[in-house]
Amino acid sequence: MEKRDELYSGKAKSVYKTDDPGLFVLHFRNDTSAFDGTKVEKLMDKGKVNNIFNAFIMKKLEKAGIKTHFVKQLSETESLVKKLDMIPVECVVRNLAAGSICKRYGLPEGQEISPPTFEFFLKNDELHDPMINDYHIASFGWADPAHIEEMKKLTFKVNEVLKGLFEQANMLLVDYKLEFGLSDGELLLGDEFSPDGCRIWDAETRRKMDKDRFRQDLGDVIETYKEVGARLGIDFG
Ligand code: ADP
Ligand code: UDP
Repeated sequence: MEKRDELYSGKAKSVYKTDDPGLFVLHFRNDTSAFDGTKVEKLMDKGKVNNIFNAFIMKKLEKAGIKTHFVKQLSETESLVKKLDMIPVECVVRNLAAGSICKRYGLPEGQEISPPTFEFFLKNDELHDPMINDYHIASFGWADPAHIEEMKKLTFKVNEVLKGLFEQANMLLVDYKLEFGLSDGELLLGDEFSPDGCRIWDAETRRKMDKDRFRQDLGDVIETYKEVGARLGIDFG
């Protein structure tokens, strides 16, 4: 496998073509952003930590029967993935209230959400990722109804697998965002699962262990990501 031209550079990762038209290389960079790209910083080791963290989680999900784009980790900061036609929506499941749902509905941070709730957002920074519903996705042609249902089902299935995994390591999975895409008509989990795209709290103290440390200037961002990984048994080398 040979890495070829850069296809796209996002806020945190770059996507490269390869000599195989069905495979891309994802390069996890140290760039960190929040608030639709308005707060930006480079954090040492972030690319490496998120790449290794994501590889660990994707393998766990595959083992649990969730099909993902992940093929293999190539280096400290790069992974090989299947090329997807990305669906431009973010799928969010929440177990505890935090972030935008608190502001939107006046909920206190940390309130249990039972049963866990689901939200779709349009992936569009210029529009500030507005919340959308199934009808918008179907009517505007972002995905067809069968794939909409499957995205919901799979995002909840990820909760079943990961909630327990974090609980065993004395952490709470508060919420997370997933992105899906199509490969030969098949829906696969794409993008990444790392502390950049979810909320994780220490189960006893409720200390924030995710990107809220960056958003809220709490310090020790990558040190804390490494602690989350270490508790899950991830070796960052
Ligand atoms: P953003 O687009 O939010 O700035 P990133 O910096 O993480 O995000 O960029 C990665 C981009 O690659 C995202 O747009 C994501 O949707 C896309 N992507 C993730 N996995 C794949 C894949 N397997 N095939 C094609 N594109 C992908
Ligand atoms: N999230 C994300 N990318 C986004 C928006 C949200 O990864 O563009 C994640 C975020 O880290 C959290 C979950 O999705 O784990 C729910 O985010 P929320 O709607 O509360 O938005 P925020 O508070 O980040 O504005």
